Amino acid sequence: MNDTSAPDRSTPRGDAGYESPYPYVERLQEKMDERIARRVPVKGRFCGFCYARLREADTTCPFCAHDIDRVGTVQEIPQDVLRAYHAKQKIEARWVHSGAFVGLLVAMALFLWLVVFVPGWLGHPAIAFAVLIGGGYVLAQLFGPIFAGQIGYRRGARKRDQLWSEHLARRDGTSTR
Ligand SMILES: [Zn+2]
Repeated sequence: MNDTSAPDRSTPRGDAGYESPYPYVERLQEKMDERIARRVPVKGRFCGFCYARLREADTTCPFCAHDIDRVGTVQEIPQDVLRAYHAKQKIEARWVHSGAFVGLLVAMALFLWLVVFVPGWLGHPAIAFAVLIGGGYVLAQLFGPIFAGQIGYRRGARKRDQLWSEHLARRDGTSTR
């Protein structure tokens, strides 16, 4: 991949071992998330190539760097494009939630093990309960956003990029960037 613009301050989780072949798509994710959540108006002036929202003064797209005169503008982001970004969101969220759930299960197993098998003060239900609550929180964070989130990010971004390339192919008959 040529990295004319390296994935900059995209998401806090960063690349997580996956570099999108479409750096502008990666940078647009946050904007598209806002649009999908309808925190921004549906209509507007969008880049005819990547569908980034443009300011009146823009003559080149700040995201994909295409000349606006050449690619034109559209008033709305196509549904299948929004679906591509939504797919990334959904896949990532599913991994994070499942990971957090596994973390909680591990904490619960630890709790039971302490209560049932560990003699002395460590096996005291109060201690075990503290382990359940504190450990549950820590393990849910660890397994959710940190471990599973990385996998979810990669899978989600891959799926999104694949859907985007399909959109380009349908629209332009090619998958050039
Ligand atoms: Zn653009």
